[in-house]
Amino acid sequence: MSDLSELKRVVVAEIDRLVPLLVEISRDIHAHPELNYEETYAHDVLTDALGVGFSSVTRSAFDVDTAFHTSKGDANGPRVAIVLEYDALPEIGHACGHNVIAAAGLGASLGLAPFVGSTGGLLEVYGTPAEEGGGGKIAMARNGAFRGLDAAMMVHPADVDITSMRAIAIHECCAQFHGSEAHAAAAPHMGRNALDGAVIAYNSIAALRQHIRPTERIHGIFTHGGDKPNIVPKYAAMNWYVRSDTLETLKPLKERVEQCFKGAAQATGCEVEIQWEDHAYADVRDSVALLTAYVANGREVGRDFVAPSPHSTVVGSTDMGNVSYLAPSIHPMIRVAPRGVPIHTARFAGYAGGDDGDRAAIDGAKVLALTALDVWANPLLRESIATEFAAIGGLPDGVL
Ligand SMILES: [Zn+2]
Ligand SMILES: [Zn+2]
Repeated sequence: MSDLSELKRVVVAEIDRLVPLLVEISRDIHAHPELNYEETYAHDVLTDALGVGFSSVTRSAFDVDTAFHTSKGDANGPRVAIVLEYDALPEIGHACGHNVIAAAGLGASLGLAPFVGSTGGLLEVYGTPAEEGGGGKIAMARNGAFRGLDAAMMVHPADVDITSMRAIAIHECCAQFHGSEAHAAAAPHMGRNALDGAVIAYNSIAALRQHIRPTERIHGIFTHGGDKPNIVPKYAAMNWYVRSDTLETLKPLKERVEQCFKGAAQATGCEVEIQWEDHAYADVRDSVALLTAYVANGREVGRDFVAPSPHSTVVGSTDMGNVSYLAPSIHPMIRVAPRGVPIHTARFAGYAGGDDGDRAAIDGAKVLALTALDVWANPLLRESIATEFAAIGGLPDGVL
């Protein structure tokens, strides 16, 4: 135990030594926001920085251009993965604070790198692009990532220190209505109005929303509604997100949404084409055993990660959910903004690029690193993580 305490002390000291670098990189990525799969700047900055502590870093790992991967330690030892995200949002930049996730993950990885050899464990670092809808982790997992891990961890910014994001499953779709054009005044009877089809579908789903579980969400927009008022629209298109607790419960909800599209098409004499994205985000299955270690380490660095209130139902969705079906995982959230400043707002972006973001990156790096040391040092912890994970059973349909 005293060996572990000493190791923890030197790893924390190493991360303290790295603070100027971590702050510089967090702010640099924040100043260069990049969208899904376009994160070349962040990819280069992070892989260059990792090159200092790891003998080789695989760029464009798992056949995904802006992904990366590296590892260090005993290939036969317990495997702990640190997961980094670094994509941003259109218009509002790093409003989800993924620059902090990247800096925290980098700090944990570089802080552990000199010492992992002495633990008998293996450290894996995954650079995962396109969390904001692109399913970067799913693309990587389809090419072999996240297998054989004893634990996978990341830490996500929020307005509170909290153990879990309560992330639910989501599948995105486009519905395209095809009708017939006609002069809207001279020959309206010749037309079949695709916009009417889309409007009726919207209203049907709006009615459906009254009769779904309180934890489910369906939200959509019109992306095309015609070209000119005096032409009966022959084409209309909509984009929808359908969310439910798990991939399992998402299935019947998707069918009910599809019925709304089909009924609207029938009512208006149109055809509808429904295209689901090639990936769905799974709910996050938190590893309670791993979280318990994480929370204890949080206290060591002065952060009290509390369980989410039972009244808070949903926060969002993440492709870390899919990882959590492949490996025991946690997705805690760390405070970078005052309470009540939500992610995905310009105000939140300001905090993620400021002093609070810096502090969260450093504290997050320490808590992740200390938790990795626990996993390597403690066979009983590994056993309870593994037992709990085994109880999830096989991979549900749609995870990959
Ligand atoms: Zn986000
Ligand atoms: Zn995010």
